[in-house]
Amino acid sequence: MNDCIFCKIAKGEIPCNKVYEDETVLAFYDLNPAAKVHVLVIPKEHIANILEINEDNSKVVAHIFEVIGKLAKELKLERGFRVVSNCNEYAGQSVFHLHFHLLGGEQLSLQMC
Ligand code: AMP
Repeated sequence: MNDCIFCKIAKGEIPCNKVYEDETVLAFYDLNPAAKVHVLVIPKEHIANILEINEDNSKVVAHIFEVIGKLAKELKLERGFRVVSNCNEYAGQSVFHLHFHLLGGEQLSLQMC
């Protein structure tokens, strides 16, 4: 999508602090970290949020969870981490491109994200 900031990051048009990239998935550090380690994992294709996941695009979501597991190990988060995806207004979604927050590196409060 033309005016989507995460599409622009996925295309390399806007810089990010990249942690992982492959053909379909990108992971980068959140600009405003809510925990010591705060990574966003996104599909490169535009999917607005969980409500738009369907049988045609769900493969990338399964792959995202594989990537999250690998990243959690690489970033040494085995002691505990949280994965959050805010969906729509009441959850406070601010970027309407599907993303999973990977939070860890410290004791997480129940309020975080
Ligand atoms: P959400 O509020 O769940 O939609 O999460 C959007 C997240 O994207 C927030 O945690 C923002 O800090 C983060 N964010 C927005 N723009 C950027 C950017 N250019 N680079 C990295 N993180 C960003």
